[in-house]
Amino acid sequence: MRLKDKVAIITGAANGIGLAAAKTFAREGAKVAMADFDEETGTKRSAELSAEGYDVAFFQVNVADRTSVDSLVQNVLVHFGKIDILINNAGITRDGMLHKLSAEDFQKVVDVNLTGVFHCAQAVVPAMVQQGSGRIINTSSVSGIYGNVGQTNYAATKAGVVGMTKTWAKELGRKGINVNAVAPGFIETGMTAAVPAKVIEQMKMLVPLGRLGLPEDIADAYLFLASDESKYINGTTLHVDGGIMM
Ligand code: NAD
Repeated sequence: MRLKDKVAIITGAANGIGLAAAKTFAREGAKVAMADFDEETGTKRSAELSAEGYDVAFFQVNVADRTSVDSLVQNVLVHFGKIDILINNAGITRDGMLHKLSAEDFQKVVDVNLTGVFHCAQAVVPAMVQQGSGRIINTSSVSGIYGNVGQTNYAATKAGVVGMTKTWAKELGRKGINVNAVAPGFIETGMTAAVPAKVIEQMKMLVPLGRLGLPEDIADAYLFLASDESKYINGTTLHVDGGIMM
């Protein structure tokens, strides 16, 4: 087991990639704090994993709200006693072409995808510094690396995540905390479920591996960056996209 007795907070763990990560981490021996805005689904999924014998618990959080994030971290410390790993996975889209995108939709995506990542990292760092170790893994996107039509807000936040990742890797490395990011390609989750079949086929044409990614493909990358195998990796953005970014 690669994460035996490690405590991991995974945001956005009720659905999609975050849920796959919660399962992967639990199977690898981690105690998992499944943190999500979606209380109904998160409670159900966490109960299912608990029934399978895994040490997981659900915590309701809005990552865009600093008070909510501070409560999450305090509650996890009370429940599990420490925090070794933060997977900053929660994210949203509010797509629109530049000429139509509302200021509200721009800000909403910034609040969750960028400010939310900042809130969670800042809230867990004191506990990690105190114990002299930690892993923070942020979630970028191919959109943040090379842009995407209709995603001004989303691409800006995902590029910002790369900048924050490199900055924190420099600030926190000497305190025993590795900070890295994963940039998923097109992954089959609720986020891409509404994309028309024709566009999905076009997306597949862009992927040298010839298929969309599965949530588990990203969960495996989170696992690698959370495990001892990546202990000398710091400040990198791992592209998990079937080869799109070559
Ligand atoms: P998803 O919509 O399936 O799951 C996202 C989860 O985040 C949901 O459970 C949702 O309730 C939660 N969430 C949303 N706002 C929140 C908030 N304010 N506070 C707490 N939780 C909140 O999406 P996904 O595809 O699993 O995406 C996971 C991450 O991967 C996101 O950061 C996304 O931007 C990124 N990503 C996804 C893809 C893709 O193709 N699916 C591609 C690149 C990057």
